[in-house]
Amino acid sequence: MEVKLLDGKKIVVVDGENGHDIALKISESLAKASLAYKLNGVLKDLYSSIKEDGDFELITSKSEEAFALLNHSCAHLMAEAIQSIYPDALFDIGPSIVDGFYYDIDFKNIVVKEEDLTKIEAKMKEFSKKNEYIVRKDVSKKEALEIFKDNPYKMDLINNLPGDEIISTYKQGNYIDLCRGPHLPSTGFIKFFKLDTIAGAYWKGDSKNKQLTRIYGVATFTKEELDHIELVKAEAKKRDHRKLGKELGLFMLSEFGPGMPFWLPKGYALRRALEDWWLNMHRNNNYLVIETPVLLSRKLWETSGHWEHYHDDMFTTEIEKEDYAIKPMNCPGAILVYKNDLHSYKELPLRYAELGHVHRKEASGALNGLFRVRTFTQDDAHILLAEDQIGDEINRILKLYDQIYSVFGLDYSIELSTRPESNYIGDIKVWDKAERDLQEACLATGHKFKINPGDGAFYGPKLDFKLKDCMGRVWQCGTIQLDMQLPGRFDCTYVDKDGQKVCPVMIHRACFGSLERFIGIITENFAGAFPTWLAPIQVKVLPVNNDAHGDYAKLIADKFTQKGLRVEIDDSNEKLGYRMRNALVMKVPYTIVLGDKEKEGNLVTYRKYGTEKQITVSIDEFLTLIGSEIESKALLVDHDQLLK
Ligand code: ZN
Repeated sequence: MEVKLLDGKKIVVVDGENGHDIALKISESLAKASLAYKLNGVLKDLYSSIKEDGDFELITSKSEEAFALLNHSCAHLMAEAIQSIYPDALFDIGPSIVDGFYYDIDFKNIVVKEEDLTKIEAKMKEFSKKNEYIVRKDVSKKEALEIFKDNPYKMDLINNLPGDEIISTYKQGNYIDLCRGPHLPSTGFIKFFKLDTIAGAYWKGDSKNKQLTRIYGVATFTKEELDHIELVKAEAKKRDHRKLGKELGLFMLSEFGPGMPFWLPKGYALRRALEDWWLNMHRNNNYLVIETPVLLSRKLWETSGHWEHYHDDMFTTEIEKEDYAIKPMNCPGAILVYKNDLHSYKELPLRYAELGHVHRKEASGALNGLFRVRTFTQDDAHILLAEDQIGDEINRILKLYDQIYSVFGLDYSIELSTRPESNYIGDIKVWDKAERDLQEACLATGHKFKINPGDGAFYGPKLDFKLKDCMGRVWQCGTIQLDMQLPGRFDCTYVDKDGQKVCPVMIHRACFGSLERFIGIITENFAGAFPTWLAPIQVKVLPVNNDAHGDYAKLIADKFTQKGLRVEIDDSNEKLGYRMRNALVMKVPYTIVLGDKEKEGNLVTYRKYGTEKQITVSIDEFLTLIGSEIESKALLVDHDQLLK
């Protein structure tokens, strides 16, 4: 056999040789650093023997796959430690996730608390020092059922595996787990880790089932990385949008509508500023703004396919013995708007923008502040166009997204999900052309770009936009989804150059994704210090002495309000210093102090958030200054300096 390395070099493989043997043929240091290997795109244990020719790559801590590999093995290490401390604990599933790993565990009658995590960590350290081999063993279904006969969760997993497949197990020390793998060669590679939270998790995610204990943790290859993660976590905790949302009076949640945020006056002001700007941006880019009903007939959802495929996530009701559903998406409504008229090729692309209020059934356990809700507003648009317009239109959308994201100082990367291997609809030539167009357009943006082959929906390729906040956390926000199916389901047509009726293609796209979630993200990114154009209160007016300067303060506040600024007077009886600190806590961009000097000279003395200086200017000068700051959408403080 023969494998080909990334640099094109070929290496002969003798029967029975494994990844470690190949690494040794290259260099001893590489063999020492190798964690696993990849053959023809499939990740394998380092010590598993090579059974076929192909493209070969050794995985080291520098590889993209290494983090998930390490964290999955760390989940096993944690389970091994827990088994030795709590011998009766039963393990369900323990995967690696984007930012670490977790394991769902049934501790029987024992309640495990956060303070117990230190004990578990200490045990993990012990097993890591022992550097136990993590050994894979393939068994039959029957053998697997025998090995895990005391664990109903594993038994269930085994019984749900198809047919008589060979089942893989991994063993280290006295701990054996049912697992697809692959894993690190030994526990000694897992040196830096931290267990951080405990949460409840229903078995199989179903609230009717027993609640298990989920322990989250993270492992890294260096101490510096772990320290950085800890720092970011601590910072993220301080900036938690649920905490800031309360402190800054942005939104509230109520037991009377779980997952349905109430926008308080301050939060609504911010949200409205965001919406108004969004609407302007879209009008300027030739979008037609629409609004479609929230409640629509079952017949419509049957045509769109939602009734069949999305039913479990929809809220439904009955009106005059007919089924209705609250829209979980805006697409069918936009299509009805399109179908309300006859269209010619000359009108295309037709861009319908909608701040669409949608509802989706989320399990109560999954709800999380503004991040996971049951009702939210999508900044949606549906674009109907001819096939040969896809490339141009994608370029236009990318430009618009870039303008929008850059205002928040958020860097982003793009991922393209391409045609699934099988069961896709539409002409393969159209797919290929569309994917080429999408790829070219993405590369031209200069942003980080990645392809996920075969991950597209059956009805069209898709772009995902991943935003990176100032703490380095990544948020999936925008999408652009090509759709070669839905217009056909609704018999949408336009008349082409030759007078023929043709079905258009549709693009679904949302830039923020959900307004609620996006506001949650920027609240944390800005730590509540929103840029002036978005700030709920832009100017706080403080009379030095209410009796002497109260009238002047009122005059200034009225004048500024009339200029469209969001202003608040603090004429409480507190000392000036206290009121100034309060404005700072509320992260108001401009605090204005008005005393004798200001009143007599028609002046204002302001202090900008994040600075110490107090500056006295004329009223008009101040208005020009804040006006141009709002116009430029400048950030209030340099968030990029944080944690980088
Ligand atoms: Zn849509």
